[in-house]
Amino acid sequence: MKAIEISHNQECRVIDIDTPASPAAGEVLLRIEYVGFCGSDINTFMGRNLMALNPVIPGHEVGAVVEAVGSGVPENIKVGAIVTCNPYTNCGHCASCRRGRVNACQHNQTLGVQRNGAMRQFITLPWQKVIPAEGLSSQVCALVEPLSVGFHAVSRGAVTDIDTVMVVGCGMVGLGAIVRSALRGATVIAADIDDDKLALARRMGATHTINTRTVDVHETLANLTGGMGPDVVIEAVGSVPTYQMAVNEVAFTGRIVCIGYAKSDALLPTRLFVQKELDIRGSRNADPADFNAVIRYLLRGECPTDQLITRTIAPEQALDTLRWWSENPGRVFRILVKF
Ligand SMILES: [Zn+2]
Ligand SMILES: [Zn+2]
Repeated sequence: MKAIEISHNQECRVIDIDTPASPAAGEVLLRIEYVGFCGSDINTFMGRNLMALNPVIPGHEVGAVVEAVGSGVPENIKVGAIVTCNPYTNCGHCASCRRGRVNACQHNQTLGVQRNGAMRQFITLPWQKVIPAEGLSSQVCALVEPLSVGFHAVSRGAVTDIDTVMVVGCGMVGLGAIVRSALRGATVIAADIDDDKLALARRMGATHTINTRTVDVHETLANLTGGMGPDVVIEAVGSVPTYQMAVNEVAFTGRIVCIGYAKSDALLPTRLFVQKELDIRGSRNADPADFNAVIRYLLRGECPTDQLITRTIAPEQALDTLRWWSENPGRVFRILVKF
């Protein structure tokens, strides 16, 4: 069967690997239909993702159909069902796992990063990682995981209806954070440097938008929040200036949620951590409740999924597409590979 393989020196090819045997007890064989390319995959391709195997079969954003089930798999995972998957693993014995926060397992191996992923025609997974998504198309299923990461950040920020939430960065993950903050009744301020992304943010639930390149961020926030600053800032960029912005602009006794994976260390005014008595929280991956919340949201049919899918390609187009994407990094929400 076909699979896509990426190497760290900007190589990407279609390879032929063995089709999996029929699933063992507790396993599910999936026929892959769509898999999304994520920012981590372009980083792998460019040699900037040191966590990834080299070479690696990428793919952790999955839309698939159940092809066969082994014995002992629950009834709701039936042959023919449309599903997505939880691409993370957890070791069961690290500090995170002991606290039940398995999404932040110290020894996590995400599909397509630390272990070979789903960009292949078939894959076998333990049933616990298979998430039924009845009513969604397999194409839309491939958007569930990246939106879940944004949803999880909102849980970490304990966002409620009385909060004003600023989401910095309106890529897929930031948009997920905007959607869930709005679903929880918060007032959402979206910040980005791209007006098209801000327009989409507004469509997905932001009440206010700020182009941080063209307006004075501090003054605009002061006007929008009665001089208080946002109660919650969700950092979904991963750059030094946006981390600094989060600490400077968040309200006194506010919360900062960090999802942006910064490649360099940031110099931060730690005095404000104390003066403002801040809660600064990391957010990593997503947990089953976040996946289910995204599926519920997508079932409402209000998500402009066509705008989130920038391109759909065949496996053979992957190399050219990754090259194009690496040259046009700001233009892409998701590229789906159709198997
Ligand atoms: Zn991803
Ligand atoms: Zn663990």
